[in-house]
Amino acid sequence: MNSLLLTGGRVVDPANNFDSLADVLILDGKISAVGKNLSAPAAVETFDAAGKIVSPGLIDLHVHLREPGQTAKENIATGTAAAARGGFTSIVCMPNTSPAIDNAGTVALIHERAKVEGAVNVFVTGAITKNIAGEELAPIGGLKKAGIVAITDDGHCVQNNDLMRRACEYAKMFGLPVFDHCQDYSLVTDGVMHEGFWSLALGLRGWPSAGEEMIVARNILLAELTGAKIHCQHLSAAGSVALLREAKKRGVLISGEACPHHFTLTDAAVAGSEKFWSHDGKMLAKSQPGALPSWPAYDTNLKMNPPVRSAKDREAILDGLADGTIEILCSDHAPHCDYEKEVEFDYAPFGITGLETELALALMQLVHTRRIPLMTLLAKFTVNPARLLNLDKGTLNVGADADVTVFDPEQEWVFNREDSASKSKNSPFFGWQLKGKTVATVVAGRIVWSENSELAAA
Ligand SMILES: [Zn+2]
Repeated sequence: MNSLLLTGGRVVDPANNFDSLADVLILDGKISAVGKNLSAPAAVETFDAAGKIVSPGLIDLHVHLREPGQTAKENIATGTAAAARGGFTSIVCMPNTSPAIDNAGTVALIHERAKVEGAVNVFVTGAITKNIAGEELAPIGGLKKAGIVAITDDGHCVQNNDLMRRACEYAKMFGLPVFDHCQDYSLVTDGVMHEGFWSLALGLRGWPSAGEEMIVARNILLAELTGAKIHCQHLSAAGSVALLREAKKRGVLISGEACPHHFTLTDAAVAGSEKFWSHDGKMLAKSQPGALPSWPAYDTNLKMNPPVRSAKDREAILDGLADGTIEILCSDHAPHCDYEKEVEFDYAPFGITGLETELALALMQLVHTRRIPLMTLLAKFTVNPARLLNLDKGTLNVGADADVTVFDPEQEWVFNREDSASKSKNSPFFGWQLKGKTVATVVAGRIVWSENSELAAA
């Protein structure tokens, strides 16, 4: 059944600057009409969206699905189920699987599996370098032919600037954006958390902000040199936002994304400080000289790459999102098994899951705080990533694929470990009171997840 009538919702479609109470009629998997008092053919199911937001299906362009090769952490079925729960109708998976997505065969494998097992649309990125080793370019033309939407060595960062330049030149030829995980290895070495007051207090090795900023600056120069579109992934540092803002003013083809953990948490969270919401380490130390927190610290579900940073950095990311410097929101959903995370902080892998909490956290930090209007937030989840990737998605235009997200921005809920559809449970947000929840996720006219069906099943 690929037809559906969504009635009485507040339809917000940033691509068309449309925000109004309306019905949405879907016929045969395509948007057929958006307007008042629509009626549907007799057999078409009706979904009451009154009091809810009806948005073009959300897109997350930074997801680790772990298939092939690491399916103990996640697979295409569980990862896309988590996406559907979170309100995402399209996700873009990263190539750091085993084997890496550096050849057409692996791209075909993922497309095939996603078609059979995926709850939502899966788009694939290819590696920049063979085996993500940073030494030799992957066959970018062949990967493009196989259907990738971007290249990236995510999880790693190409250190050789000449190699990165060549990658940009090829990517431009093939009309692909280059995504970059910005990390200068010589500066970051084996850092495990943000370098600052708390890394010193906790005795953990620091990952300095400059390690990210250095590569953002490099990417700006290479975007200017080559004319390629470079997209800086999961920005965490204030300096990165300043560099990006200045470069965009000059018209450089550079863009950036931010993840909820970087604009919600600070490094004080790694110390278990309950003050992390509003203070950074220095302010806390000033008010309680000599005092170190006595609550649980070193939670490895607060270890990610790049790390959560200072309150000043978190503020800068929020400012960058508010003034449009950062146009895209995503999760960097990075599942890991319990046994991998249940080790000393130094030894735990980087990354947290995020697909199921990102909409709520983004609403809480950006819309409920009145930093940006709902329309702007939704643009960062729909039309902006679609444009960057040249995807025919992210709008409710008549004739478009009927990918739709219905959510209640005011609904309060608690994120529970047992409710997560992801195979892995490495989230720091379990037990959090969240505000804003997906009600139904529609892919090509079919409801792939809804709160109602879940309640009925329970
Ligand atoms: Zn990354």
